[in-house]
Amino acid sequence: MKRVALLVILLLPVTVPAADSKARNIFLLTIDGLRWQEVFRGLDESLAVNTQYNKRLEHIRKQYWTEVKAKRAEALMPFLHSTIFKSGVVIGNRDQNSCARVTNPWYLSYPGYSEILTGVVDEALDSNDRVLNPNQSFLEKLNARENYRGKVAAFTSWNVFPYILNVERSGLPVDAGQKVDSPASELERILSHLQGDIPSPWEHLRYDAFTQHYALSYIERHHPRVVYIGYGEADDFAHDGRYDEYLMAANRTDRFIRELWQFVQNDEVYRDNTILFITVDHGRGEEPEETWQHHASIRTMEKNEQYLAQYPEGIVGSEAVWMAAMGPDVPAKGLIATGDKCLTSNRVAATLLKLLGEDYRLFNSGMGSPMMEFIE
Ligand SMILES: [Zn+2]
Repeated sequence: MKRVALLVILLLPVTVPAADSKARNIFLLTIDGLRWQEVFRGLDESLAVNTQYNKRLEHIRKQYWTEVKAKRAEALMPFLHSTIFKSGVVIGNRDQNSCARVTNPWYLSYPGYSEILTGVVDEALDSNDRVLNPNQSFLEKLNARENYRGKVAAFTSWNVFPYILNVERSGLPVDAGQKVDSPASELERILSHLQGDIPSPWEHLRYDAFTQHYALSYIERHHPRVVYIGYGEADDFAHDGRYDEYLMAANRTDRFIRELWQFVQNDEVYRDNTILFITVDHGRGEEPEETWQHHASIRTMEKNEQYLAQYPEGIVGSEAVWMAAMGPDVPAKGLIATGDKCLTSNRVAATLLKLLGEDYRLFNSGMGSPMMEFIE
């Protein structure tokens, strides 16, 4: 008997996809603070002609502006519009009655990412301070399971992610721009040199190109089942008040996502069984016009008298986010109108678990529930 049982165990595949799920791999991508306005409307004419916000007026006009208003979004993010939004699901175009928002009361990055990755809102996480997240992300929970162990990896431009994903506790591999002591390949050796030698405009953020190419290199070598990539440039250029650079970052990220998808569809392990899910950690303001640079709720403002005096309502609209997905089990419905409800970021983690065929309640019943809009 014992022998037979052992044989049966040996014959079982090492990783069994959960019932009814075609998706075996998930790539979750976030683009820090990229507004739904640019994603769905494209370049904003009024901001784009303002010399206070742009040094490369000619360039962005040539690249992202067209006479036909409805074509501007596609000019800015061609891959999203031509492929993901057509072959998958997209939510958050408020001009088309489609709504998504964060649940946390702060409208800042750390709380936004924590909400996306853990599925819960912890109000005590109310800033971007480097505190180890007491909540477990779905990455950490999956990585603790036998069929995902060592098959989860994160790559981010912002160096606060090792705290958000609590690497001390989770042990997750989070590449956030740390110095690499022993690069795994010639490409990574060169990347490591350039990352150290090319000055980033920001102390806390590396250029997204490094995040992208480290991620591609690692993914190609290790084929993780669950990948998280956090792009960060768009937000920092916006805070710097550079609308031209913000647009160029959006366009570049679109290109990165295309590159990633092409890799996935040309790779034996990932082809036709990998889901791409894209979202953002917060929105930005719209009115008054200069608030495109900022994001914060009233409660965040209340902690700073000077800001509160200037923006007594907080940065209106910065709770607005958008989400898109494509891949097996994601219906090709395109933009979905949400009627009088609004989908929320705390439901992303459970949605991804469900797409992998997992029951989120077994991980943490306090998570926001799966969004069935994304599931066939
Ligand atoms: Zn942010």
